[in-house]
Amino acid sequence: MELSPMMKQYMGIKEQYKDCILFFRLGDFYEMFFEDALIASKEMEVTLTGKNCGQEERAPMCGVPFHSADTYIARLVDKGYKVAICEQVEDPATAKGIVKREVVQVITPGTVISQTMLNEKENNYLASVFVSQNGVGLSYCDISTGELNVTDINGFDTFDTIVNQLVRIKPKEIILNASAETLVDLEEIRTNTDAYLNLLNEAYYVPAAATSAILRQFSVKSMLGIGMRECEVAVQSLGGLLSYLFDSRKHSLGHITRLNYYDIGNYMSLDKATIKNLELTETLYEKKISGSLLGILDKTHTAMGSRKLKQWIREPLNRAEGIQKRLDAVETLVNDVVLRNNLKDGLKRIYDLERLIGRVSFGNANGKDLLALRNSIAILPEIKSDLASCGNVYLEEIENGMDSLEQVYETIEASIVEDPGFTIKDGGIIKPGYSEELDGIKFSIRDGQKWIAELEGIEKERTGIKNLKVGFNKVFGYYIEITKSNYEMTPDNYIRKQTLSNCERFITPELKEMESLVLNAETKINQLEYELFLGIRTFVQGYVNEIQTTSQAIATLDALVSFAEVSGKFSYVKPKINTGDQLIIEKGRHPVVEQIIKDGVFVCNDTYVDGDTSSLLLITGPNMAGKSTYMRQTALIVLMAQIGCFVPCESAEIGVVDRIYTRIGASDNLTQGQSTFYVEMSELAYILNTSTEKSLIILDEIGRGTSTYDGLSIAFAVVEHLCHQDKGTRTLFATHYHELTGLEHTMKGLKNLNVEVAEENGNIVFLHKIIEGSASRSYGIHVAKLAGVPRTVLEAAELKLLELEAGIFEGGAKPKEEARPKEQVQLSFFESINDPLVQRIKGLNLMDITPSEAIKILEELKEAAK
Ligand code: ATP
Repeated sequence: MELSPMMKQYMGIKEQYKDCILFFRLGDFYEMFFEDALIASKEMEVTLTGKNCGQEERAPMCGVPFHSADTYIARLVDKGYKVAICEQVEDPATAKGIVKREVVQVITPGTVISQTMLNEKENNYLASVFVSQNGVGLSYCDISTGELNVTDINGFDTFDTIVNQLVRIKPKEIILNASAETLVDLEEIRTNTDAYLNLLNEAYYVPAAATSAILRQFSVKSMLGIGMRECEVAVQSLGGLLSYLFDSRKHSLGHITRLNYYDIGNYMSLDKATIKNLELTETLYEKKISGSLLGILDKTHTAMGSRKLKQWIREPLNRAEGIQKRLDAVETLVNDVVLRNNLKDGLKRIYDLERLIGRVSFGNANGKDLLALRNSIAILPEIKSDLASCGNVYLEEIENGMDSLEQVYETIEASIVEDPGFTIKDGGIIKPGYSEELDGIKFSIRDGQKWIAELEGIEKERTGIKNLKVGFNKVFGYYIEITKSNYEMTPDNYIRKQTLSNCERFITPELKEMESLVLNAETKINQLEYELFLGIRTFVQGYVNEIQTTSQAIATLDALVSFAEVSGKFSYVKPKINTGDQLIIEKGRHPVVEQIIKDGVFVCNDTYVDGDTSSLLLITGPNMAGKSTYMRQTALIVLMAQIGCFVPCESAEIGVVDRIYTRIGASDNLTQGQSTFYVEMSELAYILNTSTEKSLIILDEIGRGTSTYDGLSIAFAVVEHLCHQDKGTRTLFATHYHELTGLEHTMKGLKNLNVEVAEENGNIVFLHKIIEGSASRSYGIHVAKLAGVPRTVLEAAELKLLELEAGIFEGGAKPKEEARPKEQVQLSFFESINDPLVQRIKGLNLMDITPSEAIKILEELKEAAK
């Protein structure tokens, strides 16, 4: 049996969009068939039905109303499906045969523009990675705002850099050339970014096609015209991205007007582990903003500002001038509270200009959007005048970057009513006085409308039917309604039109005539309003550049005001920035921990580290004492300074850092079949291979993931590597290997620090104070006690600890000192073998000792040990 003609049409279109769920428009519904219907009905939780398709078996089918399709599409896209939207592209009323249908857009996680699918505080990036033997081109775009960036990556650690960049950008979708599969580890990219990965045909990345896609987009003759070097991999990546966007949106990308060709060397490089470990924009495990640095710093008032601040946190600067510029602006805003409050008041009333202009360009903006634009523009003069004389160069530069957009304001003000509807085809958008033609038509039907409006009163009086009603519906037009109980009183000139359960509806020849006059005119009015609206929208679109520049200025201002707000509120101070190698922090605090410790006051700590005599701070101290907090706070203070924010301390001097590395805690990568220790070592390898003398390294308990001797040896070698360079790399190194503290005298730059604790009646009290010198012991068992480990286990552990400290370990493997070559034994840890106490224990013959003798000997040993 043959398929029905409509099904044939469906199959033809589906064939071209095999990898998508096809939303096939049928009247007021989008329908899905066959396999698509099976998947979509389950994922969208809608009923699965069937449709006659000309075959013996009905085709599985499900559908959603077109006006609520966005929510369903969002659900599918969120789950990683691509959705192709197929519309009727001719009027069914005039179509001959089957209505023509075409796919008008393909929606993927990186190409959504609908408001219901976007988070206003987050960019929705699509990244394109072109990988070849000659290097890697990386570009990324937020199609909802028009932001577009491109760079190229080379060097021996290219793959790590790609992953780090992608973790920083956090794209929703990543497209790559198909052969990238053989050159990079896609699984690692997937697990680190959670993005939807999409391998594209190499045709997207052919240099000639890529070049022409770029030149066409920016209407330029050469790459230099858009500030782009003739770098082939970058061109290929960007060209692929643009072609993919054209193919998906099937619409010109008029709001992508500028390109940012950036050099990754201009920003502090943050590797994936650091972005995650320092909890910059979300917490490590729960992935929440609250509890992250962003959660503390984001006091922005606009969506654009919020996105900008997030970008800044993930992209600290590494040039002193740029940092200073931001800090000076923040200082002005901290000091001038009146200015700050005025700006805050203004910013609160500004809508998301970036996405509004995006919607204008895509032809999605309605009357309400244009009003939001007008209302935002109305605030600009206030903000501009506040900034114009504020005395700070950067803020004045920002003021200059804001266009006052008067023409846009005036046009919208003159044309759009104050409460337009959501649709643009049903009229009710254009103000009287904007179009003579429109006003003329509206005037011409005024009498007719008045006649209809008065009809109900007149007919009530004439017929004596008190509850007679005049109403309107789309199918039958105007009618006169009489309830069954009054039916007897119906006048002769009424013509029955419709019978309902408890009433009858009528028309009269006069009403019909008036209706046709009014309705015809209303159709004309709606059409004319629609055309006028499109004209206004196109006019606004002509200002895309100015609106984008202005929204960038607003975003920057909002982020700076937010920094100032937080700095004032939490008593942060302005750091001194220089290009030296010292980090001097007095009374530093951890910006997040200080806000969340409930019953207690945060203990401030100083930090001094440089590239010379104090380059590696070796921090020992009990568990829970505050080592990690101290190290993280140092890294965060440096990072905050380099994004241009004031910092939580009494004073700070920051010698600009080019990279922050962290190796903290156990970040399991079991999904990739890698052991915790392997991950630890690969992160360590990356740090040692790529850090420079300008970097800051935070290492927490390196080596603890393996046996004691292996771990200690690795930790020792790392310390040696970092100290034995001409210039030490600034490092904070927390460890439980107390043996390493002995190196202070032999290793250049190594400084011992520890965290103070007090002992009260056998219990420890954490003072959280970082002091010079090394810790005397670990207090691990005390911490176990605090955590509620059963008493019997604690007692056994204490006994074992004594044995171990004395060199015995019965019932388990003995430490095998003979396995190590004697010449490498150089730490106190190994020297303990020759301790008289150890010698005495070694001399004991356990088979000859009774239990009571054993206890006595143990007591003697304990005394001797004291
Ligand atoms: P471990 O070795 O077990 O990882 P640690 O020494 O790294 O422990 P942290 O995790 O830094 O200890 O700190 C433990 C807790 O102590 C923190 O969660 C915090 O509540 C508190 N704390 C740390 N530093 C301070 C401080 N400076 N002032 C007040 N409380 C602090």
